[in-house]
Amino acid sequence: MTKEFVVKKLVFNKLAKIMSDIKYKVIVGLEIHVQLCTKTKMFCGCALSFAQQPNSRVCPVCLGMPGSLPVMNKQAVEFSILAAMALNLEIARFTKWDRKNYYYPDLPKNYQISQYDLPISNKGYIEIPLESGQTKKIRITRAHLEEDAGKNTHTSGDYSQVDLNRAGTPLLEIVTEPDMNSAEEVRALAIELQRIVRYLGVSEADMQKGHMRFEPNINLAITKDGIEYRTPIVEVKNLNSFRTIERSIIYETQRQLDEFIETGKTLKMGNKSTRGWDDDKQMTVLQREKEEAHDYRYFPDPDLVPVVWTDEDLERIRKNLVELPIEKRKRFIDNFGLSSYDAGVLTDEKSLSDFFDEAVSAGGDPKRVCNLITQTGLKIANEKGCKVNELGFDAKALAQLAKMVEEGTIGASSANIVLAEMAATGQTPDAIAQAKNLIQKNDTAEIEAAVEAVFAENEQAVDDAKNNPKKAQKALGFLMGQAMRKTKGQGNPKLISQILNQKLGI
Ligand code: ZN
Ligand code: MN
Repeated sequence: MTKEFVVKKLVFNKLAKIMSDIKYKVIVGLEIHVQLCTKTKMFCGCALSFAQQPNSRVCPVCLGMPGSLPVMNKQAVEFSILAAMALNLEIARFTKWDRKNYYYPDLPKNYQISQYDLPISNKGYIEIPLESGQTKKIRITRAHLEEDAGKNTHTSGDYSQVDLNRAGTPLLEIVTEPDMNSAEEVRALAIELQRIVRYLGVSEADMQKGHMRFEPNINLAITKDGIEYRTPIVEVKNLNSFRTIERSIIYETQRQLDEFIETGKTLKMGNKSTRGWDDDKQMTVLQREKEEAHDYRYFPDPDLVPVVWTDEDLERIRKNLVELPIEKRKRFIDNFGLSSYDAGVLTDEKSLSDFFDEAVSAGGDPKRVCNLITQTGLKIANEKGCKVNELGFDAKALAQLAKMVEEGTIGASSANIVLAEMAATGQTPDAIAQAKNLIQKNDTAEIEAAVEAVFAENEQAVDDAKNNPKKAQKALGFLMGQAMRKTKGQGNPKLISQILNQKLGI
């Protein structure tokens, strides 16, 4: 044993001893920015853009030219209200715009138009599905509307580039209470929120395009010798993938735990700090001690009038609310007896859940329709790069196919072949089943005759099936196979099995 190894082992043992003495809980709250899919920016007529020629989607307003005046995008405010309603938030009747002042090259006005003390909404919650099949309510503090900044690109040379195409893009900022206690819960919230805004049609919520950006506030409640300690809160900035959200929380948990163990009870209750995620090193890096609200010198924007809502306005917006993914998921489980997993797959996208609903309304057995979609439909759609409802057959045709399986006209595995053909040719399931010779024989007399013929040819197997417990199972399988063959593979297996058992008297 080398000396170095012995030392490491001692340190490890000491750590293990400390670890066994302490308990800890992760505490996470989120700040989330969601880009709304309006046609134009928040306060000017410029089109929203992604990957366009830099500085080609700009005008005097979003360039912050002197003398230019902002005009509020009504659609953006209505989208925000709709999202706030879906998040069970209380909608403010009176709301105003504030300037958040700071200097940065991507912010040409030197202030961001945001909302400070009178946001569009307060006090709501989002219900998230957990792995266990349970759900959890995460409280939402507030949601407000603001404009995005431009984008700085730091080159390898001794200069940076500024692209202001994004400046002025409408953002819904959602702030949650610190109600999440694991990376999994945070991930579940991120995914559920993405589903909700897509269901509502207020955001494309494309993570890769930066449409949703997450900033987890993470700290730990550590209990040692009966005393609870709280580590200082760390805010991790600007995460735009589910993977980095999860990893940064796991990393911070370990880092804060290590820091606590090193400093022990002398842990300094420092200020909240801001860290960034370094994806190459897979770790968070200290950026700065957290600034306070008063650093921004918030004050009401004198160029914009407050927004006042009437009951009629809010009722009109509320009409655009749709059944939310979690409600749909519960309905699919409760009313149709689907598994939580299947219900999750079917409700991931609104278009798919609607297609499923339509097929069930058209008379398709829910479980059959679900199997056809999840076993074959999604696979073909994935290969073709489209959605299931774009495969070339409608929900009625899918319901028809499900009925054919239910009635024993075709077998369950044949149905998948028929579905693939429906996607390829757009023909009806019936025509395809006929043409491909997949219609099952359900003629009892014919099947009885086939079974009798099989019995006559295989006396030993019949005897084993009836009288030899050791061989019965195998003999039965053999007789089943022979009967299927007698019907040229077209006998309804369920019916054959019934008649076999009946005739064998088992
Ligand atoms: Zn503009
Ligand atoms: Mn913000």
